[in-house]
Amino acid sequence: MSQLQPARGTQDLLPDEMRRHRMVVETARRVAERYGFAEMATPIFEFTEVFARPIGETTDIVSKEMYTFTDRGGEQVTLRPEATAGIMRAILSNGLTQQAPLKFFYSGPMFRYERPQKGRYRQFHQIDVELVGIAQPQADVEVIAAGARILDELGILSRTELELNTLGDAETRRKYRALLVDYYNQHRAALSEDSLRRLETNPLRILDSKDRGDIAVNAGAPEFHRHLNDASRAFFDGVRRGLDALGIAYKINPRLVRGLDYYTHTAFEFVTRDLGAQGTVMGGGRYDGLIELMGGPAMPGVGWAAGIERLAMLIAEPPRLARPIAVLPVGEASEAAALRLSERLRRAGFTVDQGYSGNLARRLKRANKIDARIALLLGEDELKREAVTVRDLDTGEQSEVPMAGLEDRLARFR
Ligand code: ATP
Ligand code: MG
Repeated sequence: MSQLQPARGTQDLLPDEMRRHRMVVETARRVAERYGFAEMATPIFEFTEVFARPIGETTDIVSKEMYTFTDRGGEQVTLRPEATAGIMRAILSNGLTQQAPLKFFYSGPMFRYERPQKGRYRQFHQIDVELVGIAQPQADVEVIAAGARILDELGILSRTELELNTLGDAETRRKYRALLVDYYNQHRAALSEDSLRRLETNPLRILDSKDRGDIAVNAGAPEFHRHLNDASRAFFDGVRRGLDALGIAYKINPRLVRGLDYYTHTAFEFVTRDLGAQGTVMGGGRYDGLIELMGGPAMPGVGWAAGIERLAMLIAEPPRLARPIAVLPVGEASEAAALRLSERLRRAGFTVDQGYSGNLARRLKRANKIDARIALLLGEDELKREAVTVRDLDTGEQSEVPMAGLEDRLARFR
């Protein structure tokens, strides 16, 4: 019955897992708002060209990972593989460029046709921040600082390392690229098939190849940060000074290039050793050419995205939800009164589980199973006296409490 299995690379988020996801998203949203990033959302699918050109035809994402299909109206659409391009499209569609600087927080599902493994799925979820319209390195610093703060409040910053690199401005990149192509041409024999192909299409991508032979060649490759023009050097120094001023530790990784075509200057990743091969939990950088490439004005931007599944795997057990109060009618006559009592308590802010069926023993068993803190027993006697029996499910103690003012008596169980 393969139809009853989730599609390959997708998974259900049952309540325990969902609690971890929710903790990641809620923490990130709260912290991002403190930094002035306002939450927004874009559609889950877009016209294919929204992603294809900005991300780059030669990238893994566009060349082999996109879920693209023709809809019933003959339009070519794609399930979004990442958030940035859609957010930039939204900025342009809604004419927001005049309001820059723009600061957005985002969370939601992304889709990539990848080989599923631990920490790598076909539907996964990201949190994301974007800061558009600021060309100074302070923006990069603020974006990285917000990321570090989120990791810290999730309790996992100490399990990650920040890796930093610069790709320089367009001029630096062009010159560096020529140096790199020269170097690789001298080592063609040692390069993998894939990298020989990348040498023609996207030589920078060879730098982060996972192939053993490529890694050996890369060890001697020219390093970006040693070939910067003055403007690019000044920018990189600005980012480093800002991070130093905030006490955010980082390590320069000259082979960090990131997968998307639109990056300039800053590239960074927070990586962990605790997740095996899928160690990058958050990655981002500056994308000064992106909005122009999409048909908008020249406008700088910087941002990052982080995988919620990977973050969720790292966090400790998230806090439990409030323990519910079980409302248990004893006998048919009190069913209606019990329903009303449940509603009354929920309106007052309590978490209430209404016992539905079976004798009192069965209902109490369910109350224990859902970890209820107390049970309110409501039988004919209690009804007559306008009271309920409150049973403490941890200690077994019970006492009768008048209905009037019940909310106050139960305040500590809210
Ligand atoms: P990787 O090198 O792991 O493929 P990437 O460079 O493709 O990552 P980005 O496009 O930068 O990843 O996405 C940002 C983050 O989203 C990653 O650091 C990771 O945490 C998460 N992510 C990316 N692809 C997946 C996936 N298929 N499944 C789960 N998480 C993912
Ligand atoms: Mg990838």
